Amino acid sequence: MVLQRSASAEHNKPNMMHEELLHLLCPNVCIVCRKGLVSGETYCCSSCMAEFDSFSTPSASEEMLRHTIASRFGGKFNFEKGWCHYLFHKGSTLQQALHSMKYEGLFNLAGNFGRQLGEWMLAGSDTLDIDCIVPVPLHSLKKIERSYNQSQKIAEGIAKVLRKPVRSDLLMRKRNTRSQTGLSAGSRKKNVDGAFQALAGIASDHLLLVDDVVTTGATMAAAAAALRNGGAARISIAAVALAAKE
Ligand SMILES: [Zn+2]
Repeated sequence: MVLQRSASAEHNKPNMMHEELLHLLCPNVCIVCRKGLVSGETYCCSSCMAEFDSFSTPSASEEMLRHTIASRFGGKFNFEKGWCHYLFHKGSTLQQALHSMKYEGLFNLAGNFGRQLGEWMLAGSDTLDIDCIVPVPLHSLKKIERSYNQSQKIAEGIAKVLRKPVRSDLLMRKRNTRSQTGLSAGSRKKNVDGAFQALAGIASDHLLLVDDVVTTGATMAAAAAALRNGGAARISIAAVALAAKE
């Protein structure tokens, strides 16, 4: 059975609850195609995962991330290193999997994406001198609504591989912003500008800032600016996916 999914996921609660319930009742089916999972598969079957558009190498992902962010921010947002595992296309199996992760409470799936991302980071570098991992925070009201922060779970997955601490206490979202989905690049920047606040006097030298998807980089830029204000010297960024320009 393939269920219809709405592009405006946030306004589709009854269907989401139906899907969440379906997953609870049938945990052994693929969250994308609903076929039965076999041994070794969790949440997503291997044929759906094979459709995910992975970057060829970590450095290829960094290059595209730099290009995407430079095209929006010029030299105003400089980051130390950057990683993303997949290229995100609208309507793809990856979009369906990430949608389930974000809105259907499948936090173990977020952890799996995080572990994959951590391994991807290690594959591209022998020396990762990151001090700690900082997830992009949700506003407390949104966290109550969604029950968990997907970036936190992704960060925890990365932490298991890199063996570095997750420091969610370093950054908070002081303003409850609307979803970036459907906003133009300019509106995305305006929506998150000044939305974050970091703890003063951050002692860590090199932070890894983590989010689920980078589209224009506006959220990462606003969060990084707050961390710099708090005293962070170097900031690297990692996301499960980078949105393809379509
Ligand atoms: Zn599948």
